[in-house]
Amino acid sequence: MMMQQTPHDLLAKYDRPAPRYTSFPTAVQFDQEIAQDDCAALLSGIDTAKPVSLYIHVPFCHQLCHYCGCNTKIVNSYGPVQSYLELLHAEIRKAGAYLPQDLKITRLHFGGGSPNFLATDDTARLLETLNRFARLDSAAVIDMEMDPRLLTKEKIRAYAQMGVKRASLGIQDFDPQVQHCINRIQPFEQVKNCVETLREEGIRHLNFDLIIGLPEQTAETVSKTSEQAVSLNPDRFSVFGYAHVPWMKKHQKLLEVYHLPDARQRFEMTALLNNALQEAGYAAVGMDHFARKDDPLYIALENKTLHRNFQGYTDDDSEVVLGFGLSSISSFSGAYLQNITDAPAYRQVVMQGLFPVKRGRVLTAEDKRRRALIEEIMCYFAVDLGHYTDIPHLQEQTSAALALLEQDGILEREGNKLRVTERGRPFVRIVAACFDPYFQPSATRHAKAV
Ligand code: SF4
Repeated sequence: MMMQQTPHDLLAKYDRPAPRYTSFPTAVQFDQEIAQDDCAALLSGIDTAKPVSLYIHVPFCHQLCHYCGCNTKIVNSYGPVQSYLELLHAEIRKAGAYLPQDLKITRLHFGGGSPNFLATDDTARLLETLNRFARLDSAAVIDMEMDPRLLTKEKIRAYAQMGVKRASLGIQDFDPQVQHCINRIQPFEQVKNCVETLREEGIRHLNFDLIIGLPEQTAETVSKTSEQAVSLNPDRFSVFGYAHVPWMKKHQKLLEVYHLPDARQRFEMTALLNNALQEAGYAAVGMDHFARKDDPLYIALENKTLHRNFQGYTDDDSEVVLGFGLSSISSFSGAYLQNITDAPAYRQVVMQGLFPVKRGRVLTAEDKRRRALIEEIMCYFAVDLGHYTDIPHLQEQTSAALALLEQDGILEREGNKLRVTERGRPFVRIVAACFDPYFQPSATRHAKAV
């Protein structure tokens, strides 16, 4: 007889490194040299009948959060920002020379770093350059990641006048002690004021980022944080697990003097937060997003038009996302391009009038089919393998691993139809990895699955 595994048994067995599958193949496999002519051909060959999105990376912050895993630089003067902006304008102009005239750009996302570290005049100038060289649609949705500590009424008003409609606020945890440990002090009242001003000025669509696994976090701090966050009534939440990778991000060592929750505590706090958000009326979308039922993200889930890209789950159905700036990634229907991640090298290449592409990946026909399969599992926790019989050797490659997951109660299977069970949902990345022939478990490349 099969023994029912407890959630903690599953955690002990399956909390192992796995990709987040914001792309397939994952960034680890972006290891091909991409020639300048190929970049030009990818840009000029974009299908103008389909919408296109843009991503702008602003790699600057005013203060280092000790948990930070992003590509950012702490600066105390504006000089380096100004010189980076010149390069960013040049990169956009260069791409614009190859983009088809009648491109339809329907979304623009500012990510970072802290995009609201830029002076508002500089953000406006960036928008002008984007309009001139990439032609934003007049109804384009513009959203921005915002650090509440850098928001003023004037800045918010300027963003609203520029057409920013959505803001994603880095909240992480409201507990003062947790905030002290992570070097990010932003009291609840400060965030509440920002939220009120954003709404007053017309930026009404709000997402809050929360993190589980931070130092000195407990069930009580998470519970209180969720209560406070829900009281501000954002449209969405993104809940991330803290990735402790001090061999890559040395400053994270600073957190080791505090109590870092272990895997079991993280698992329990995540479950607690998920329940609290769902009880407050937010529906779970994918493995780590929550949305109100009138939010486009939830509607996309219901309509089966949900996607996953480098920003996580999205209702954006653009196949092409053009990334500009240091370390940004562009996705095309058949390729990924990653920009240079080293600031001096980025400068040198842009000054030479070249595309600042470091590496990339051209997808095979099989990669594209596996990408669709993995995206389906990550979005809907279910897939009909009968729709993917054209993928060579799929059954031989996956049957043993899937049988084990089924035996442990992570999956249910009916013929070709696979469904991740409720208790299996925290391990969806492990399920997706069964279909990834490039995946090699490595603690240094991927964060743990839960
Ligand atoms: S604001 Fe975000 S990007 Fe900047 S240091 Fe903090 S976590 Fe990193």
